[in-house]
Amino acid sequence: MTVSLVGAGPGDPELITVRGLARVRACEVLVYDRLVARELVDEAPVNALRIPRDSLAQHEVNALLVRHGRGRRVVRLKGGDPFVFGRGGEEALALADAGVPFELVPGVSSLSAVPESVHIPVTHRGVASAVTAFAANDVESLDAAALARVPGTLVAFMGGARVAQLAQRLIENGKPAATPAAVVSRGTTDDEQVVVAPLGAIGDVAKGLPTPALVVIGEVVAVRAALALAAHAVA
Ligand code: SAH
Repeated sequence: MTVSLVGAGPGDPELITVRGLARVRACEVLVYDRLVARELVDEAPVNALRIPRDSLAQHEVNALLVRHGRGRRVVRLKGGDPFVFGRGGEEALALADAGVPFELVPGVSSLSAVPESVHIPVTHRGVASAVTAFAANDVESLDAAALARVPGTLVAFMGGARVAQLAQRLIENGKPAATPAAVVSRGTTDDEQVVVAPLGAIGDVAKGLPTPALVVIGEVVAVRAALALAAHAVA
């Protein structure tokens, strides 16, 4: 049988792909992440085996997928896109090594969808023509000098609890403290919250926001005000 590595999208259950939803509805085993919308887990057939990934180490997940994938239709449902900070590559390699067929079903990544949900375009003509996405769970090990210098938009994953530390390192390395920044918590869900402030103040303003949260830094954040106004005018 096959294991489908499926991207569930950024949070709103309607943002899974048509193919992804079809695979969930036809699965026999569903292995799912904490970030995945409950509604999507409920889309699996009633008699499907549902396995939350939460308490499992990565090697245990790999082994589980290999074992169930040998005989059953397995869906591995992951937040956003499986190949964007999702360890989908590792799972696919484990399946390949074990000779278990798999397919990849892309998802809508929070990379662009979460900023977009609060009217921030990650690129914008004349404002930003590059995007740098990086993991900020270990701020100390980041090449902050390179990040402070790179043109365009910075998008930090897994940095929700370390916004102040991240901002401080970028500023120390030459990023202007006045650079617009935003933190979006639980983007695209009913609990979505956004805060906007200059980089020098974003740590304080974002303190205590629930995770998952995405940090967006760059002039594109300033486009938001005009877009949000326009969206309200049309609605
Ligand atoms: N594969 C996922 C990312 C997984 S890493 C994707 O493509 O989106 C988890 C990190 O993604 C979180 O720490 C957070 O930084 C970000 N993230 C995922 N969903 C989010 C959401 N709804 N709102 C804000 N940030 C989110």
